[in-house]
Amino acid sequence: MSDSAKVWLVTGASSGFGRAITEAAVAAGDTVIGTARRTRALDDLVAAHPDRVEAISLDVTDGEQIDAVAADVLARYGRVDVLVNNAGRTQVGAFEETTDQELRDLFELHVFGPARLTRALLPQMRERGSGSIVNISSFGGQLSFAGFSAYSATKAALEQLSEALADEVTPFGIKVLIVEPGAFRTNLFGKGAAYFSEENPAYAEKVGATRQMVQGSNGDQPGDPTKAAAAIRLALAAENPPLRL
Ligand code: NDP
Repeated sequence: MSDSAKVWLVTGASSGFGRAITEAAVAAGDTVIGTARRTRALDDLVAAHPDRVEAISLDVTDGEQIDAVAADVLARYGRVDVLVNNAGRTQVGAFEETTDQELRDLFELHVFGPARLTRALLPQMRERGSGSIVNISSFGGQLSFAGFSAYSATKAALEQLSEALADEVTPFGIKVLIVEPGAFRTNLFGKGAAYFSEENPAYAEKVGATRQMVQGSNGDQPGDPTKAAAAIRLALAAENPPLRL
């Protein structure tokens, strides 16, 4: 590894943004530890760059797995320069149908997992006086709509954690970047879209106003995740990157 090459740890690297971010980092000569539950989806990248891509199985909702992966990576690589908390999924449904368990599960994935992984990797960044933490939120972290109460609640929580974190660690030379994508072409929305069908009785009975928003934001021209990956790299290269992208 060259001195300037960075070590990235990306969660949810098997698809969508995570995959695009992994590919962009590798193309730039960096090393990426791509984590996901479906690590086989990274086989081609590992085969093409066996010295610079490693796939590690990690379910972000399992705190013990997080600690073990972080310890293993730090022991073998000595550092993580860029942590990308990206793993996520949609959760759509009327507020009154969203159960405590569903809400808790999504908080585990979008809030507790990223918080735990950040805690595990932050001390070595502070010690070195450098490093970047990229938290993939959503436009839903700032706005919410009928059907998106759970999703937006978790992303808003991630954003508030990130704001405080940025305030705490920027003085130590660590960059924090909150990314708020609109609608992008990934696997994210596939299953969720079915909820908003007029043929779904739950939608028809319990949610009054969302279909238009979903069609409008996720319809004709969703964005290209490779462009988002390029924008993230550009932002991280800046001396004083914006807090939000
Ligand atoms: P994809 O469905 O394409 O990718 C989601 C990734 O998250 C997969 O790699 C999946 O890997 C991983 N993942 C899901 N659950 C877990 C888990 N429990 N543990 C570890 N990994 C998990 O969607 P996107 O690329 O779109 O999603 C990435 C992020 O972008 C999410 O946080 C999402 O909220 C955010 N986002 C996306 C938008 C869009 O329009 N696409 C808009 C706004 C935000 P695996 O199943 O292998 O574990």
